[in-house]
Amino acid sequence: MTFEELGLRSEVLKSLKELGFEAPTPIQEQAIPYLLGEDCDFVGLAQTGTGKTAAFGLPLINNINNAARLPQGLIICPTRELCLQITKDLTVYSKYLQGNVTAVYGGTDIRTQISSVKKGTSIIVATPGRLVDLINRKVVQLGEVQYVILDEADEMLNMGFKEDIDAILDQTPIEKNVWLFSATMPNEVARIARTYMHDPLEVSIGHKNQSNENIEHIYYAVKERDRYDAVKRLIDFNPNIYGLIFCRTKNETATVAMKLARDGYNAEPLHGDLTQAMRDRVMERFRSKELQILVATDVAARGLDINNITHVINYNLPDDIENYTHRSGRTARAGKTGQSLVLVNTRENVKIKAIERQMRMTFTQGKIPNPAEICEIQLNKLIENTIATQVKEEDIAPFMEQILASFDNLSKEEVIKKFVSAEFNRFIEYYERAGDLNAAASKEANSDRKNDRSARAREEGKTRFFVNLGRRDGLNPGALVRIICDATSLKSKSIGRIDIMTSFSFVEADEAHTQKILKLVDGYEFEGHKVSIEVTAPSKGSSDGGRDRKFSRGAGSKKGPGSFGGAKKPSFEKRGGFDTKRSGGFERQRNFGSKRNKY
Ligand code: AMP
Repeated sequence: MTFEELGLRSEVLKSLKELGFEAPTPIQEQAIPYLLGEDCDFVGLAQTGTGKTAAFGLPLINNINNAARLPQGLIICPTRELCLQITKDLTVYSKYLQGNVTAVYGGTDIRTQISSVKKGTSIIVATPGRLVDLINRKVVQLGEVQYVILDEADEMLNMGFKEDIDAILDQTPIEKNVWLFSATMPNEVARIARTYMHDPLEVSIGHKNQSNENIEHIYYAVKERDRYDAVKRLIDFNPNIYGLIFCRTKNETATVAMKLARDGYNAEPLHGDLTQAMRDRVMERFRSKELQILVATDVAARGLDINNITHVINYNLPDDIENYTHRSGRTARAGKTGQSLVLVNTRENVKIKAIERQMRMTFTQGKIPNPAEICEIQLNKLIENTIATQVKEEDIAPFMEQILASFDNLSKEEVIKKFVSAEFNRFIEYYERAGDLNAAASKEANSDRKNDRSARAREEGKTRFFVNLGRRDGLNPGALVRIICDATSLKSKSIGRIDIMTSFSFVEADEAHTQKILKLVDGYEFEGHKVSIEVTAPSKGSSDGGRDRKFSRGAGSKKGPGSFGGAKKPSFEKRGGFDTKRSGGFERQRNFGSKRNKY
């Protein structure tokens, strides 16, 4: 089917042609011919990314008098970002109809919005709270409204806008068309449909609550304490990731983003404690791909309308199952494919089952990639980047003679090896002492773990040492290796697993060097601290024969290798990432909890 066949006006067709829209999407095919008719209420169950904005926007601008100066169309949506996106889309679609679309949304100066509404407009796109405010100030007149569109209705109710929506709809004429769009159909959305609509046509793209087929859903079972390290591995395994990491709370969001930034990843947080200006800046950086990874709360990421997101990572699952639909729907938009990755601890399998039941899809169980797999991927990425590097011939020319002379006594192979190692060593160093992060979820996994270096058993032929310094003292695995190698002149291959804890650490080394290490490392200076090292005693009666008494629960090394892809940047704390000033009206989470779908 073509747009011409849907019955749209030539002015609208002209702008679609300019936009390069060749054919209507399924929701557009079903909705547009119906909405172009008279007096129709409509319920569209469709995710973002299906083309739903045009599905309601095109018939709206087609049907109204765009030159009129009183609003005939009212679009209500949950967030400022979505509000601006819809306004922009409708302005483009109505380019040849002299369209006049005005956005009103919270969290910004109300006076400019008042003056633009007062100038007269044919369509208002609004977030509920700000619209109620403008209605109460008698700035917005809704007496001429013929079309009310509720976009992302489930999100609006989820955000606590129920009373505002009722108040707005009460201000509109009785005779009107109500078009409602929602990704899911909880009872509250059905109530709105019952209360304000007459015999609506219901169109569903896929099942109700069904997930987009282009999304691959994968879950990983990890131990609670390994959640953060597992996320780093997923990122390292996907070096070209353009990803959104979802956390459950603002604190968790801030912490994960801060740790990733500290570990060298190009990541920033987005949550409701940031000012609107900060949120705008982060969004813009993410949208322009200057930022590779956005760590966000559910509420802050609502309305984030970005195509090409390759991965959604669920650091923790949301409390409400429906939020999983929204999260995963941020990837695989506009016909693309994407992955939604979920980290669960061993007790959370039941949540995976609950999502599968409700969304009528299945998860596959993934394995957190092992160090060798990640190193291979990163090495390939490094090679690709190197080959793709543009040489600035003129700039490098004056140095070439000196450069060539410096490498004169090295073969081509040796030079390559050294250049690759200069970049790659930190990955190898980080991962050579990292174990398997997959929690034992099955029999098979259990037997794997017995053979795994991450098991707490001391490796055969190794001595396990306790060191008095930890992360708090600036120690990381690389630094500990350097201390031992510098003090003893041993090669790093003599050193085994390292666990850096907050205030102390463990390190394993070849048994044969035990005395040498004790003698030479003890008392060694590290950044103003004196190193003290001793052999750990195996726990009494321990079946693995090697648990550390007192310190039995060691975590893996925490400092990440960072990524080759993303540019390193200064700590975002310096740029004010943790400003706790609240902004107006964005994260309004009034209670709506009682009837939500919990696990
Ligand atoms: P939406 O679901 O409204 O957020 O739209 C998702 C994306 O698809 C937006 O970037 C639209 O510009 C784009 N889009 C919508 N309809 C079409 C179409 N018929 N052909 C190509 N792209 C479209």
